[in-house]
Amino acid sequence: MNLPKKVVLCEVGPRDGLQNEPKILSVEEKVKLIDSITDSGFKVIEVGSFMHPKAVPQMASTDEVFKKIKTKDGVEYRALIANMKGLERAMDCGCRKVKLNVSASKSHNLANLNRTPEQSVAGFKETVQAAASCNIEISGSISMPFGSPWEHEIPVDDVKKIVQAYIDAGVTEISLSDASGMAVPSQVYNICTEMQKEFPMVKWILHFHNTRGLGVANIIAGMQAGITWFDTSFAGVGGCPFVPGAAGNVSTEDVLHMLDEMNIETGIDLDNTILISKMLVKILGHSTDSYILRAGKSKDLILDLPTGQKK
Ligand code: ZN
Repeated sequence: MNLPKKVVLCEVGPRDGLQNEPKILSVEEKVKLIDSITDSGFKVIEVGSFMHPKAVPQMASTDEVFKKIKTKDGVEYRALIANMKGLERAMDCGCRKVKLNVSASKSHNLANLNRTPEQSVAGFKETVQAAASCNIEISGSISMPFGSPWEHEIPVDDVKKIVQAYIDAGVTEISLSDASGMAVPSQVYNICTEMQKEFPMVKWILHFHNTRGLGVANIIAGMQAGITWFDTSFAGVGGCPFVPGAAGNVSTEDVLHMLDEMNIETGIDLDNTILISKMLVKILGHSTDSYILRAGKSKDLILDLPTGQKK
């Protein structure tokens, strides 16, 4: 099997996961979780978003969280923004990396904003230039490139037009985000292979929600196509308010456990990661879609025959 030797996992739980939780975590709880994630060896952490606090109350404290977390050299702390206002908030609290997002669903975008997705991306240009002028790194994300609840199928050429619009606006790090949980491995492999060939200057990140249980399979398909950056969420928390039945991102500890067992290097401590996810589940007060939190690591399994009791 053709797989990379090294993979980067981006922990997006503090943003994508927590923004969908009914319970709003305190600044102290968020800071403790994020500092522990840094200590576990993650190189990319999505801390929060700078959206309007009324639209996403769970993320209203992102500015304060940024001011209080312990940052480590070589670790990227990023936040999602929608516009210039978000960029200004990022500048004010010391956030050095921001991410823009657009939906690949043309009808969704037209209905909401009266613009095609590529027109939306072209409109980001001012924000991208302003970010560059104050040394803030920027990346772009495309939601639902593998299928949307509105059109069902999204033509690959439509996704390519959005990618080109991002490149024209000056963004060359792009995340393909399966927020609708509709991607399947063969499609992921084919689209990733095609995109890398056509846009070799782009650094690709894949972002899978585990809505239909295919998150891990899609990551393997992405790795086979040569992608090495993946978003995951602690304890598998998350969802998407626009998608019926949406699940969280594929769980960080499930992916990390698999990568460890396959000897693919991440630089992340699995035991610490499991402890952080357990801490999160305790704070949230409900169980989550994480296989490893339920079953434990396969290495810890030493059963006593014939009773089946754990030693
Ligand atoms: Zn997501």
